[in-house]
Amino acid sequence: MTQLLSPSAEKLIEAFCGLVNENQKFVLTTHVNPDGDGLGSELALSRFLKKLNKESTILNYSETPSNHLFLDKSRELKKFDPEKDVRLLLDADVLIALDMNNSSRLRAMEKYFLESKAKKAIIDHHLEAQDFVDYQLVDIDSPATGEIVYHCLVACNAALIDKEIAEGLYAAIMTDTGSFRFPRTDGDTYRIAGHLVDLGVDPNYVYHKLYEENSLGRTTLLGEMLSKVQLAYAGRVSYASLTLEQLERNHVIPDDVDNFVNQASAISGVVVTLFFLEMENGVKISFRSKGEIPVNDLAKRFGGGGHKNASGARLYGTSLSETVKTVLRETVLILPDHA
Ligand code: 5GP
Ligand code: MN
Repeated sequence: MTQLLSPSAEKLIEAFCGLVNENQKFVLTTHVNPDGDGLGSELALSRFLKKLNKESTILNYSETPSNHLFLDKSRELKKFDPEKDVRLLLDADVLIALDMNNSSRLRAMEKYFLESKAKKAIIDHHLEAQDFVDYQLVDIDSPATGEIVYHCLVACNAALIDKEIAEGLYAAIMTDTGSFRFPRTDGDTYRIAGHLVDLGVDPNYVYHKLYEENSLGRTTLLGEMLSKVQLAYAGRVSYASLTLEQLERNHVIPDDVDNFVNQASAISGVVVTLFFLEMENGVKISFRSKGEIPVNDLAKRFGGGGHKNASGARLYGTSLSETVKTVLRETVLILPDHA
């Protein structure tokens, strides 16, 4: 078994196992616009809790993106309905938010999450956690929340990790490491993935379901975006955008353009990439960088956050063209030779 935790992390995980063992009613959640890491982690943890005969409900603010539905074999993922689900949050013994560290990312669920008398925990790997829970299981060096959940489950009761739990964890780690290649991917990540494959996960199936069942419209839209990628700051910054009209014309929903930003960054010499997605009431920005360039510092200037090499922000009440201009202007501040 992989054993790679610092003594303080082991204490945290011990506390987590205590929280699991001493309580009965759990509600799990993840951030708005959930990704494979949030969804795979909560599905794995929920199934694990059920195998311990606990009551576990997953409530998410957002709908599940269609390419992740295959992970939800027992149909556990529920979109939060304020008419019906408030009591679940208020009456739970434990609330666990996965892959997020800021309560605002719960949107309409935030108020009830904060009001609830339940014990609260986050399991997460983002920088600069907000202080809004009793237990912070945070490892900013971990490439995915799924890896932290893996360590928790192994520590609490490794024998309960079955193929379905393993598949959730594998999808979580695979998506957040860009299929095992982003900078924080290390030997431990591969060892964990190896263990999950030994438990029955089919890597080809998971990759295919997540990334190879796109609509023709999505592929066409990607082509439209790539044909308009532009460079700035002597070729060190690439940027691209998509309008609502382009999404609608190609019958693509915003959730389905998740990996477009990475495609726009695969250009020689580019160290920062910006991707602007028009929304009904503003613009969503994705920031990516290579090496030591902290795009989270740039995202923070626009009220967002994330990781050093991958961050996001949402601006409301502003146009696409204004946002592009403003963000491009500020991008110079994080370029290496900026005085
Ligand atoms: P993406 O560009 O893929 O949507 O997001 C990249 C990273 O930035 C993710 O780890 C995500 O958690 C974070 N992120 C994305 N959007 C926001 C946002 O609006 N606020 C904050 N604080 N983080 C975000
Ligand atoms: Mn994550």
